[in-house]
Amino acid sequence: MAEGSDRRCTCRDVEGLVTDYLEGALGKAGKAAFEEHVADCPRCIQHLDEFRRTLGTVGELRDPPCSPDSLSEALEMFRRWKRIEGLDTDTDTDP
Ligand SMILES: [Zn+2]
Repeated sequence: MAEGSDRRCTCRDVEGLVTDYLEGALGKAGKAAFEEHVADCPRCIQHLDEFRRTLGTVGELRDPPCSPDSLSEALEMFRRWKRIEGLDTDTDTDP
């Protein structure tokens, strides 16, 4: 029976499904079709590998050392900058 063969993933499918696959969001059939394609498509193996690496990098960056201190510092800087802007417009107006 060749019933399952027309449900094979194409490279395009794999590209679209790769996030779902890595998140485990694909159903059992979807996962099987995905793996079946990737298993004999070197292009998609590479694609998946690159994707995993990208996710790894993003995962590292997902934890930025953004302390409340640096946030209030940035806000203070912004306020100061706004104040300077305000003074500028004040001195521009003729007395
Ligand atoms: Zn492929």
